[in-house]
Amino acid sequence: MTIKNNKSLHDLNTFGLEVKSKYFSEVNSVEDFYELIASEIYQQNKKLILGGGSNVLFIEDYEGLVIKNCINGISVVNENTTEVIVKAHAGEVWHEFVLWSIEKNYAGIENLSLIPGLVGAAPMQNIGAYGVEIKDVFHELEALDMETGKLLKFNLQDCTFGYRESVFKNKFKDKFFIVSVSFKLVKLSSANALYRFKTDYGDIKNTLSEMQVYDLNLKAVSDAVIKIRQSKLPDPKDLGNAGSFFKNPSVEKEQYEELILKNPVMPNFPQKDGTIKIPAGWLIEQCGWKGKVIGNTGSHKSQALVLVNYGKATGREVWNLALEIKKSVSEKFGVEIIPEVNVV
Ligand SMILES: Cc1cc2nc3c(=O)[nH]c(=O)nc-3n(C[C@H](O)[C@H](O)[C@H](O)COP(=O)(O)OP(=O)(O)OC[C@H]3O[C@@H](n4cnc5c(N)ncnc54)[C@H](O)[C@@H]3O)c2cc1C
Repeated sequence: MTIKNNKSLHDLNTFGLEVKSKYFSEVNSVEDFYELIASEIYQQNKKLILGGGSNVLFIEDYEGLVIKNCINGISVVNENTTEVIVKAHAGEVWHEFVLWSIEKNYAGIENLSLIPGLVGAAPMQNIGAYGVEIKDVFHELEALDMETGKLLKFNLQDCTFGYRESVFKNKFKDKFFIVSVSFKLVKLSSANALYRFKTDYGDIKNTLSEMQVYDLNLKAVSDAVIKIRQSKLPDPKDLGNAGSFFKNPSVEKEQYEELILKNPVMPNFPQKDGTIKIPAGWLIEQCGWKGKVIGNTGSHKSQALVLVNYGKATGREVWNLALEIKKSVSEKFGVEIIPEVNVV
């Protein structure tokens, strides 16, 4: 375990921002973490765990210790004839883990193909896409208490997952280092042929039919999701971004009724709790931001919700744009949009 000084994080955040951390260390095992926790630098500085850097916006250099999670390994910890519990360590690349499960014919996370980042960050905001969230397949996770080093287990209830939320993003923010996540997946053997693929969401069905898939299987659903995502979202390798910058807001029924009267075409999705979800991208687009370029940053031309770095943006520039967007949505609609991205 080594601690570096003044480390560039340019290649470690998908916005591609040129920022530095005062101290930086890679953790390859729990033992590495114990060594780190005993160091003076750990004890005297603020700390940030970093996975793939695909959901963070650094507004300035990080004046503390960045801990890059590199703990790897995937194993089956329990199974019966129909289900399997798979434990993935936090440093595994999420999409590689999805491909691994497809290869093994384990179902449940195929709709979450191609989400950037590492396994350890997946519970942070209960990653979701195409009608599936990790809470649907979550079994438990192990996390180290950042203060005491104690290894604790969290079950589904402990994590209090919500829409792009968990206890780790709120009450326990920066308090735990997630080291492994276990998922309950379905074995797609002939004995369990009743698995229901989730193809109703978005363009999955159309894409499958374009691909001429008539016999559903995990690889086909994953390929369809990958195809849709690649056609809709800018690849951070080409254009720095962190996916959706804001969460979709939910409003109370009374506010929704006022809004829909003034905006009859506003897309809306009634929620189980009685609130109505409105796509943040639509709100932002109505405020005229879609495709707008401001200096080195802007809202993407085909996805208003995605803020991008055209090459030389600073985190501060991106953040100022985000604040402007938030303000204009609030002024035009009276709706508060909240960043999904973790602002550091
Ligand atoms: C093009 C693009 C598309 C995206 N699409 C989606 C999508 O469809 N659905 C979706 O939900 N998200 C999406 N995202 C967001 C992002 O991929 C996810 O939030 C992902 O889980 C972030 O993983 P990461 O390893 O990059 O986390 P990071 O960005 O490194 O970290 C995110 C947060 O988690 C914390 N953290 C990271 N690892 C740990 C750990 N081991 N223990 C404790 N805390 C930790 C960090 O401190 C930080 O606060 C997208 C991003 C991009 C760039």
